[in-house]
Amino acid sequence: MAELIDDRWKDDALVTSSEENIGETSGISLNDAFAFLDPIGRLMLLARNVAGPVVFTTSFGLEDQALTHLIIQAGIDCRFATLDTGRLFPETHAVWADTEQRYGIQVQAFHPRSGALEALVRENGINGFYHSTDARHACCAVRKIEPLGRALRGAAAWLTGLRADQSGNRQALNFVSFDTERRLLKVNPLFDWSRERVAELVADEGIPYNTLHDKGFLSIGCAPCTRAVAPGEPERAGRWWWEQDQTRECGLHLTPDGRLVRAGQHA
Ligand code: SF4
Repeated sequence: MAELIDDRWKDDALVTSSEENIGETSGISLNDAFAFLDPIGRLMLLARNVAGPVVFTTSFGLEDQALTHLIIQAGIDCRFATLDTGRLFPETHAVWADTEQRYGIQVQAFHPRSGALEALVRENGINGFYHSTDARHACCAVRKIEPLGRALRGAAAWLTGLRADQSGNRQALNFVSFDTERRLLKVNPLFDWSRERVAELVADEGIPYNTLHDKGFLSIGCAPCTRAVAPGEPERAGRWWWEQDQTRECGLHLTPDGRLVRAGQHA
């Protein structure tokens, strides 16, 4: 089924690295095609049509582990990258090593620039992110956003493990959008999957996962900014829990003015 639809869309030039061809007015979009495909079919469709490198930025969370597995199964050409912020849990480093061994891949690490990091710590303190939202954003900018830019340099497509039901904000996204700032396609092949479905795949396939998930951590980022959540709490309630703002994101998935952008929407 996936292959049939994949072939049906293949020659329609629906994907290039241009904003025009992924806009809502393009008639045929990747979003339309993705709705009929499973994640492997989506990955194959993307790889066969995108004009340039595909990069997957993984944080080794449950969705990212499932997506790594599916990328390997799909056999597509993809670069794996991660943002090693310097504040990750030891458990995250452990699953990183397990993943490389299991799949025979190398996940390229992007670290903060040393000069910027030294200035940040000098000005705000080692845990300055607790003191204000601005300080937290400044830390994420140095430890995540700038390295992300380097990780995506030259990429035509950016794969992520985002799902719609991770938070109310993320429901405004879609399978594919054009990132006008980075000039690439942002692709979320698991966008319509539930957490339960992801967990089922991880269990069924014996995919390595972060053991913090067994201790109530649903969404896992930097150690000082992540905590376990109680049963029934929203998935991302354990991230930056001391902040009141309900649109808490680290900035990786926001436009420069702080918005999440839905497919075809031009920032
Ligand atoms: S999540 Fe916390 S420690 Fe990590 S970059 Fe953001 S503010 Fe800094």
